[in-house]
Amino acid sequence: REHPLQGQTALITGASSGMGEVVARRFATAGAAVGVNYHSHSEAATKIVEGIKRNGGKAVALQADVSAEEKVHSLFATFMEAFGRIDILVANAGIQMDAPAAEMAVEQWRRVLDVNLTGQFLCAREAIRCFDQQKPSPRSKAAGKIICMSSVHQLIPWAGHVNYAASKGGLMLMMKTLAQETAQKRIRVNGIAPGAIRTPINRAAWKTPEAEADLLKLIPYGRIGEPEDVAEAALWLASDLSDYVTGATLFVDGGMALYPEFRDAG
Ligand code: NAD
Repeated sequence: REHPLQGQTALITGASSGMGEVVARRFATAGAAVGVNYHSHSEAATKIVEGIKRNGGKAVALQADVSAEEKVHSLFATFMEAFGRIDILVANAGIQMDAPAAEMAVEQWRRVLDVNLTGQFLCAREAIRCFDQQKPSPRSKAAGKIICMSSVHQLIPWAGHVNYAASKGGLMLMMKTLAQETAQKRIRVNGIAPGAIRTPINRAAWKTPEAEADLLKLIPYGRIGEPEDVAEAALWLASDLSDYVTGATLFVDGGMALYPEFRDAG
């Protein structure tokens, strides 16, 4: 099917750049009306919304800090005013604030947990409340779908990034618990664990040929991922093609989580 999300609505957080942006554009071409949440880059978000509209799609830009409960309430209220219902949430917003553990300020620890973990919880909770209140859609087998943007670091420890790894490890069990709790309401909750994807968050890891060569040692498939790789996985998880899938994490990582150091371990 060319438009697997036709007639559905999707809210994507942190969608003014990187994977969130590409997911928003992809969902729009798949037929969804999309909410492009952004934190501080209103111009980028407006450009994305205009691009989607130029292609005949529906989109709105919605400012909110996902770590603030009241802002998340108004984010969903504004989204519901614009589109009347919500079928899909992609909880994607995330940050890194890196430091060796001994030098990490508690503010750095808290901010990353607040955005990456609490932010996804607040958005998922609000989405579940909306799913509970609205009529089922004839366009979707599930009553609602939530996709949590995690990371290979829900599994792979990452020195120098203890706040980030803890947030993504926490997300994994948050996602599975929500999936277990809401499956009987026909809500599906799944995660995506990207490996190294070419986006602003990790520019330092691929911007020079030396850095890129180092990174490629960790990627058996031999290339850095593109946001489109993740967007296609998100589209599958959001569509009826994955209707019997809930509580799963889809690794989109070119094999990064396959312990590539062991290839030559003998
Ligand atoms: P990105 O920096 O382009 O995207 C993150 C987005 O989140 C930005 O648009 C940012 O403005 C937004 N954001 C930050 N704080 C926010 C807040 N408080 N409220 C709302 N929005 C906020 O980088 P990306 O790679 O596209 O990251 C998207 C997600 O993918 C993140 O959760 C990240 O942890 C995860 N991820 C990325 C990679 C990678 O290699 N790029 C790998 C694994 C996981």
